Amino acid sequence: MKDVNIINGTVYLAGELRECDVVVRGGKVVELAAPGTAPDTPEQVDAEGLWVLPGLVDAHFHCRAPAYSEREDFESGSRAAAAGGVTTYFEMPISTPGVYNGEVLNSRRELAETSSLVDFGLYAAPGTLDWGDINSAVEAGAIGFKVFLHAAPADRLDEFKGICITDDVQLYKALRMVSKTGLVCSVHAEDESMIQAVAEELGDDAGTGPEAHAFQRPPVVEDYASSRLLVLAEHVGVRIHLAHVSSGFTAALLRLARERGVDASGETCPHYIAFGNEVMEKHGPFAKVNPPIRGGADAAALRAAVKHGDMELLVSDHSPFTVEEKTVGFEDIRKAPSGSPGVEGLGRYFLDQVLIGELPMRAVVDALTINPAARFGIEAHKGHLFPGADADLVLFDPNGSATLSAGESFSRSRNSAKMWDGYTFRGQIISTWVRGECVYKEGEILGRPGFGRMVAPKRCQVDCGGV
Ligand SMILES: [Zn+2]
Repeated sequence: MKDVNIINGTVYLAGELRECDVVVRGGKVVELAAPGTAPDTPEQVDAEGLWVLPGLVDAHFHCRAPAYSEREDFESGSRAAAAGGVTTYFEMPISTPGVYNGEVLNSRRELAETSSLVDFGLYAAPGTLDWGDINSAVEAGAIGFKVFLHAAPADRLDEFKGICITDDVQLYKALRMVSKTGLVCSVHAEDESMIQAVAEELGDDAGTGPEAHAFQRPPVVEDYASSRLLVLAEHVGVRIHLAHVSSGFTAALLRLARERGVDASGETCPHYIAFGNEVMEKHGPFAKVNPPIRGGADAAALRAAVKHGDMELLVSDHSPFTVEEKTVGFEDIRKAPSGSPGVEGLGRYFLDQVLIGELPMRAVVDALTINPAARFGIEAHKGHLFPGADADLVLFDPNGSATLSAGESFSRSRNSAKMWDGYTFRGQIISTWVRGECVYKEGEILGRPGFGRMVAPKRCQVDCGGV
């Protein structure tokens, strides 16, 4: 564990940038010293002219290991995370098998602890409706639960074990059970019956081109799911979280629910704000994500929600697939899987928006750091740089610029990372630090596989790396 002083930087602390030196001992921030007054240590890092930001906490991430190592694994995924300034990611429960109990969670933890370069949390799925499964997942240190409201793809049932709940009675029971654990339930809100209704209505006119994806999953698919979910959440009292919000109506529903006292939060991703329908024409299946990218009034509503602090989390939904898997979608967009590797664009895009004055700094940085940490119960050590926190940080040059190139991505599915290929961002990530260790610097990965530790909510009773 490193002792290091990060000196002469401008440090982000509770919404403000302050000139101070960050004193790191044993991998923790122990003191914020006036410039030039940090106690001596052999290693000093000069951050003159740089912002010192808390490391990003990405609450929506897929590497899917041990399944599909040709797409990604904990090592390659966490290299991409490090390059994107992400020091903790929460891996979704989709794998082989899906994480539906403590035993599966523990085996994934073991795998991640031998291969991840940065820290991680693991979601579990409550859909078996079995108290033994749910309690064991909580005891094993699940960061939260995840539920999909649409059906699992027919050829991937094992991966989605316990994750997809299309029946309202089962959903009611699952939310009730999760509410008793005190953990957050993140929900992929796309309603299966609405997907079916739209498909039936479109019939032979459903289309096969890239532009058809958005028609096949119009906002009603998401809004209908979100509305019944929020109504249920109010009644059940579960801590609910809407994953990857793409619709302006859902953003408004979320605000309304919260005004009524529902313990609800939401997240959106860079691609829902940065792009419109043109991205499908440009990149075809490589831009196919669920829910679809809508652009227009929806993107504007999401931007406003982020600006006003109504969309508390910003996440990547990093979702790697191989070029071969994606390419079949050029024939018929319905055949391509949904998802795109994007963790390297998450912080870069939103910090670019801060630098060009489109979004306020505090709303953005908090949504990338302290908000996810606090929502999921790891804020004692993650998401900020006050003394006592893990020394997870990003040195960021606000006067630099960076252009992402798919070929230089650290994701194993780099060649399908087309959405951000060639995109130039204001500002530049210089280096990323996890618990005082530099894991990424100026285009190079310095971290080592197996350094990453699991984080778990503080109410969890097991030993999870001190959190
Ligand atoms: Zn996802």
